[in-house]
Amino acid sequence: MNPEEILKKRWGYDSFKPLQKEAIEAALAGRDCLVVLPTGGGKSLCYQLPAASGKGLVLVVSPLIALMDDQVAAAREAGLAADSLHSNLRAAPKREAYANLNSGVTELLYVSPERLLVGDLYEVIGPRLILAAVDEAHCVSHWGHEFRPEYRRLTEALDNFPKAARMALTATATPVVQDDIRAQLGLRSPEILIGHPDRPNLIYRAFPRRDQFKQVLEVVRAHPGEGGIVYAQTRKDVERLAEKLKGEGVQTAPYHAGLNAEERRKAQDDFVNERLDVIVATIAFGMGIDRSNVRYVVHANTPRSVEHYQQESGRAGRDGLSADCTLLFSAADLMMHRWLAKKDLTLTPERERALEKQLRDIGRYAVSPVCRHGLLAEHFSAPYPVGEKAEDGCGACDVCLGETKGLPDDEALLTAKKVLSAAWRAEGRYGTGYVVNLLLGRPNDRMTGNGHDQLKVFGLLKEAGEPAVRSWIDQLIVQGFLEVTEENEYPLLRITAEGRALCQDKGTVRLGLPVPPKAGKKKSKVLKKAEKAGVVFLESDTELFEKLRTLRRALADKAGIPPYVICQDAALLEMAALKPMTLDALLKIKGMGEKRVEKYGRLLLDAIAGLPLPE
Ligand code: ADP
Ligand code: MG
Repeated sequence: MNPEEILKKRWGYDSFKPLQKEAIEAALAGRDCLVVLPTGGGKSLCYQLPAASGKGLVLVVSPLIALMDDQVAAAREAGLAADSLHSNLRAAPKREAYANLNSGVTELLYVSPERLLVGDLYEVIGPRLILAAVDEAHCVSHWGHEFRPEYRRLTEALDNFPKAARMALTATATPVVQDDIRAQLGLRSPEILIGHPDRPNLIYRAFPRRDQFKQVLEVVRAHPGEGGIVYAQTRKDVERLAEKLKGEGVQTAPYHAGLNAEERRKAQDDFVNERLDVIVATIAFGMGIDRSNVRYVVHANTPRSVEHYQQESGRAGRDGLSADCTLLFSAADLMMHRWLAKKDLTLTPERERALEKQLRDIGRYAVSPVCRHGLLAEHFSAPYPVGEKAEDGCGACDVCLGETKGLPDDEALLTAKKVLSAAWRAEGRYGTGYVVNLLLGRPNDRMTGNGHDQLKVFGLLKEAGEPAVRSWIDQLIVQGFLEVTEENEYPLLRITAEGRALCQDKGTVRLGLPVPPKAGKKKSKVLKKAEKAGVVFLESDTELFEKLRTLRRALADKAGIPPYVICQDAALLEMAALKPMTLDALLKIKGMGEKRVEKYGRLLLDAIAGLPLPE
């Protein structure tokens, strides 16, 4: 069978995603390769398909032990003889894994780096091994965000399999990390396969934060019954937001490093198994999460860098269906990150400069009224537009959807000059609140005492309203026209040299504003999801989709595996729309494949035919 035939038979897909075929062909020809694809890009298939070729054994090294069982389960659903070996494995499956290895039936073996480095496996696997794949390969690099010392010793282990091809996989797009991976894993004239980092199914939004809880709730409410992650900065924020969401009847749990291991495990398990819709978490949450139908990620606080943002928001929409990524921005968050970083006394001037750049970049991303897919592509030095035309925008961010509007250049300059002159007149002796009140023409005793209510700038932006003025101040801070300095722990707003220059028309500035949503008929989320998946889905099919989801959850519970391992949302949507009546028709649904149809086909067909779900 050729790779396309294997893909169709085992996974039920008609075509490869970008670069999958190239990676698979390299592996089958015995060549090394480095695969860089974004989250959800389909990296697993690059090594799983060679394992299904019948040519020999494929070894996968992965640091995520917590995910291995699910990955093994998913591979088995596609009909692969898969096993894993790691320290958390119970006795029975461990015995079985060894028996399978010794009798030579294993096609795909997942191991943790520690387990491989013990060294006792070399002899058993060596002769049959065609491919050694290293997943999450950025863990080998100091420059990556998740360095693991064990990964440094992997070459030593891999050298025991001189004949097997090597494949390193990562989603990390920076060239330094890629070079490091190549060198550290001893890739031999590898084929370099680098995909585009853009995730077209993610809808990015960034709004100024006004009322944190209200804005978070708005996103949660837009996704009833769907999975979502809310990221917040501190444990206290997490606890508070989770409590308030519960108060609104949302099924949610908090997750942070202050909870004990059991509480954390339960929250994570419940979320992955769809017993829980929403997790409110610090960034401690996510590494071990492969739930593919996370429909939204909200950042209630600004993340530390664009890289962090990409990583965390990227946990949405792995299944390729549309998902919402919303960032609530405040310049105060950037100050908090800076303050936390500076508490670390080992901070070198070099790292401090890097930190300042990171904060500037994420700030710029959040406040620029410019296509956010475009900004991300630019950040990762990738070409944009991604597909064909960009004139009508990406259609998948607040700016291109018309939810945030950039002010015309002359209006932006005029507005900026108004804000800046107020800060100038306040002489850097007051905080943001004072300057806001000055611009809005809201006097207080201190202001009248200073005679500031007599200034020309007093009330200059009265019409714009407080949220707009606050947001503009943030936008000017991020662009370097204003800065916040501290005096006796009190933050003061001050105009910079660039700001003074701008007041004399030297320089350019961009300002934007959220546009209030227009009331109007909105398509349901399910409908929009289906459209993205290329299925004609009627509102009336929603009920069947929900019924199939319930069936899937029951099957998953019984098998002790997460629902997404049984099959993906996209497959259920297609079933609900096309309503297949026969096993053959079911086989044509993308993402099913022979084994799944054999296992679950009858039950799915019964449900589609309108029979009640089994008890
Ligand atoms: P990554 O490891 O790159 O984040 P995964 O390997 O977890 O991505 O795959 C992401 C999703 O893409 C999975 O749901 C998988 O079933 C799906 N997928 C993989 N290959 C294809 C393909 N050729 N066509 C359609 N979907 C695919
Ligand atoms: Mg992966």
